[in-house]
Amino acid sequence: MANFKHKLKLFLLDAYARLLFYTPLWRVADALGPRRMLILFGHCVDDTNYGGLLVPDMCMSRAKLRSIISVLQQRGYVFVTIADGMDQLVQGKPGKHMVNISMDDGYRDNAETLLPILKEFGIPATVFLETRVLEERRVNWTHHLHWLFDAIGQDEVVKRFIALEGEEAEDSQAVRKASELGARVYYHVKRVLKYDVNPKSRDEKLARLFAEAGGMERDLADKLYMTWEQVQELSNAGVEIGAHTRTHAILSTVSAEENLYEIDGSARAIEERLGHAPEVFAYPFGRSWDYGEDAKVAVSAAGCRYAVITHSGWNTAETNPLELRRVPVEESTGNYWLVGRRYT
Ligand SMILES: [Zn+2]
Repeated sequence: MANFKHKLKLFLLDAYARLLFYTPLWRVADALGPRRMLILFGHCVDDTNYGGLLVPDMCMSRAKLRSIISVLQQRGYVFVTIADGMDQLVQGKPGKHMVNISMDDGYRDNAETLLPILKEFGIPATVFLETRVLEERRVNWTHHLHWLFDAIGQDEVVKRFIALEGEEAEDSQAVRKASELGARVYYHVKRVLKYDVNPKSRDEKLARLFAEAGGMERDLADKLYMTWEQVQELSNAGVEIGAHTRTHAILSTVSAEENLYEIDGSARAIEERLGHAPEVFAYPFGRSWDYGEDAKVAVSAAGCRYAVITHSGWNTAETNPLELRRVPVEESTGNYWLVGRRYT
């Protein structure tokens, strides 16, 4: 029954979004309610999905990005940075509804593909950086995991991870159980590795397995991530640079000290390189269970005025500045959905 209700709700929302998008009703809907900002979020703009180095839903094509920007511009949305847009809302400034495009982690296409498209349309955007990879050319564990699944196969990854038992026999048990759940093994194993094991030993084990299987750390980092020079180029072009921790840690799984180390560490690295401190922060993974009070305290301590999450919705002057909502965009997201979807 619950499933049926959920499906019905989605169907109605979808129908309503189409109705608003394809009829002049959108003008009426947009005139109602307070001024607001829609923050879109993705990771990459790359037609080849980095040759399979990233999970498919992380990338959108150039054509898709262009069509999203065109549609939103036609509908009268103004493109802004997050800090600028929120400042305008909080100060009660009148004007059109606003939209921001944000990209997480700091992948190379942000400078090589996204930036030229932003220039073409004359709009700003926001890029959130994971900073350890910029400093040390070392990727986070999720890339090791994805690479390993691709290189040696899921059974072998699970077998080798469990063989590195060490101090954490329980962690191995959890991974084994997840691997026995049948279809979508990658998803189940990743979920367990995100939330149910010791983060430090997980990172060490996966880095070791990656190296043992022939993975080249620097090579993978260079293939995937920007350099500081490219970040500087984005910043010079008016792209807002935000912090996104040092190592993409799941903040709810680490101590208060680690929260500060991760969040303030990434903000200070950006400040040192760019000469100005970031005003915005994105919680890694961004669901309500991925960060807690310690993270919010650390965000403020690090000097960031706004922080974004990955639950969908609009932002108004009333939205909690440390929990701004973002709407995920991928290749298959219908443009009618971005414009027509009504949030409460
Ligand atoms: Zn991220």
